[in-house]
Parts: sequence; structure tokens; C-alpha cells
Amino acid sequence: MRAIYLDHAATTPPHPAVIGAVAWAMEHCWGNPSSLHLLGRRARDLLDEARVTVADALGCLDAEVFFTASGTESDNIAILGAARTAPPQRRHLVTTPVEHHAVLHACERLRAEGWEVTFVPVDAYGVVDPDDLRRALRDDTYLVSVMHANNETGTIQPVREIAQICRERGVWVHCDAVQTFGLLDVQVDSLGVDMLSVSGHKVYGPQGVGALYVRGGLKIAPLLVGGAQERELRAGTENVAGIWGFAKAVHLCRTEYAHAAQYISHLRHTLQQRLQELIPNVRMNGHPEAAHPGIISVTFPGVSAESLLIALDRRGVAASAGAACSAGSLEPSHVLLALGMSEDEAMSTIRLSVGRSNTPEELHDAAEVIAGEVARLRRRMVASAPAKRL
Ligand code: PLP
Repeated sequence: MRAIYLDHAATTPPHPAVIGAVAWAMEHCWGNPSSLHLLGRRARDLLDEARVTVADALGCLDAEVFFTASGTESDNIAILGAARTAPPQRRHLVTTPVEHHAVLHACERLRAEGWEVTFVPVDAYGVVDPDDLRRALRDDTYLVSVMHANNETGTIQPVREIAQICRERGVWVHCDAVQTFGLLDVQVDSLGVDMLSVSGHKVYGPQGVGALYVRGGLKIAPLLVGGAQERELRAGTENVAGIWGFAKAVHLCRTEYAHAAQYISHLRHTLQQRLQELIPNVRMNGHPEAAHPGIISVTFPGVSAESLLIALDRRGVAASAGAACSAGSLEPSHVLLALGMSEDEAMSTIRLSVGRSNTPEELHDAAEVIAGEVARLRRRMVASAPAKRL
């Protein structure tokens, strides 16, 4: 059986046309975009065109798009950079306990600097109730950060409602849309957000490139010092080839793959259904409707997620346990704990994330392999359990 990649939420395979675009830019447009000569101007032209492509996808002005080195950097600039310009009497931030660490750790840093941070609780699917968020807002709240789709459970937050509430209260809103950009509608005006983070390697583009949308009029302080690149928001010579590849990937998402979400969602449902048919006692964790098309979070009680992932890898199925950055650390995922899971349940949960490159046959095979390995690990657990004293 050939390898089956079910880890698209960690990273997506770069599209061949993206690889071609990166190679082409490295060969023909390797000038420094800040240089005034022809080579520099060529590189600058690529950046300008890439910015228009990303801006079109987000429904914003190209002047509102800033290229960064990752989704993580976009999140950091949004939160820390916006906080640095907040008036001293408005140092309160609201977020959720299920955000990516790029957001949570930025909030922790602010807290260490004297900010107050309120975490609005989530329900058992990981959804924030907009009324809870409304109640968390205070006169000194400056910023709210709420993700679009969760990277571990796939649950989608009611960002539009939340942004509307924030707008009424004059509070800026940041949205981490790293998992949904290129797949779902993340037009900034329809979501109503003021900042939005995206990343290249989740849209079949290159790793090490991202973008941040910043609504005109919102002041952000740079985190890096140095050159005046990205209109002084992000110092450092731009990753021209990576950005060009990212733009190519975004273009493909909007043209050739404009209907990918339906296809992926169909595959996800097939896989979910098959797992439920084949495996007794499984639990799906994400929201049944407000869901990312491709992400499945599934708990197999009594099975160690780590052992299962190792066994699946040996059988050619690539999946992961929650966020890639906590894989191998043996720490239960903060997202799953926030949903109210016990540590044992969280440690028995894996994430399967389906993408454009998967086929229905692959998912059929993957379900069989997963079912076989879950049954084997459960048998092994029963066999190794201490015999009950009569
Ligand atoms: N935010 C979310 C929701 C993510 O899933 C990820 C990556 O997994 C990131 C931010 C970080 O993006 P990057 O890997 O580009 O730093």
C-alpha cells in the first residue's frame, strides 16, 4: 500500500506549479527588492503582484497585506504589535483557551508585561458563545483574538458575530485563519475582522512564508528592527521566491481548486463514517456542523495516541496527535483539555486531516488500517492488564 498522507493540518504538499514558481523566481528574480537596479525592480514587481493576489483572496487593499515568515509571525505581530500601540489605560485582551500557541504564548508575554488577559470558555466542541465574549469585554479592552477554525478539532468559531460585537464596542479583532485560508471564505469584510493571519504551507504553498492583513488605520508597532521592508512593519529582506510561490498557491486555491472544500468535506465524512462503522467505542470531537472541511479529531478510549501514531506510520498512514509542535512532548493538548476532556482521553486522541491530494480509495484503506491497529492495541492492553484477583 502506498503512503497515505492524513496530516494536511500540519502542512500541505506543495503543488508542483508552486515548486516551479519558487524555482523560477530564484533563478530569474533573485535581486534584492529594495535595490533600485533592474534585478531589484524585477523582484519588487513579483512582490507587488503577489501582494495583489493575496489581497484579492482576502478582499482587501494590497496596502493592507504584509508578508511575514510564517503564520506564527503573523499572529505575533498582530497581538504584540497591536498591543505596543495601545493607550496605557486599555491593556486588556480577550481570547480563547483553544488558540494556537502562536497566539497563546504572545498573550502570555503581554500578561508578563502587565496586561490582563481574559480567556472566554468554550463548550464541549470548542465553540465560544458570542454572549460570553460580550460579557468578557470591558471598557479597557483593546483587542480580541479568536481563531477561525481550530487546528486540532476543526471546530469553527462564530467569528462574524464576535467581530460585530467588538465593532460595536470599539475593540480591535484579530483572527487566526491559518487553517481556513484558501479553503473557506475568509474575506476580511465578511468576517468583519481588523487583522487576519494566514500561512503559505497550509495552502499547498511553501513553508516559511505567511501574511498578515491589517485594516487601514490600525497602528501596529514592528517587532523586528532593521530595514524599512513591508512598509516598516517587518524588517528583513523579503523571501521573494517563497512569497511568489505562496501567491501561486493562493491563485490555484481560487481557480483550479475553488471547489476543493466540497471534495475534502465529502472525503472527511466518508472517513468518519467508516471509522464509526469499523471501530467500537470511538468519539468524534469537533463540532458536527461548524467544522473545517478536512479535520477530524477522534478519540479511541483505551488506546495510546502515541502508540497508535507509531503503528500507523509503520503501516504508511501519516497522522498526528493534535498540534505538530506538541507531538512527541507527551503533554495532553491544551485544546482537548479546554473541551473538558480528561488527560487520559486527550492522550487517546489523534487528528486526521484530509486534503486535496487524498482519494476516496485512500481513505477507505486508511480506515481499515486504523481499525486494525486500534483493535491490536486494545487487545495488547487487555493482555498486559494485571490479572484480577478472584
Ligand atoms: N495558527 C494555526 C491555527 C495553525 O494551525 C498554525 C500551524 O499549524 C499556525 C498558526 C502557525 O503557522 P506556521 O506554521 O506558518 O507558523
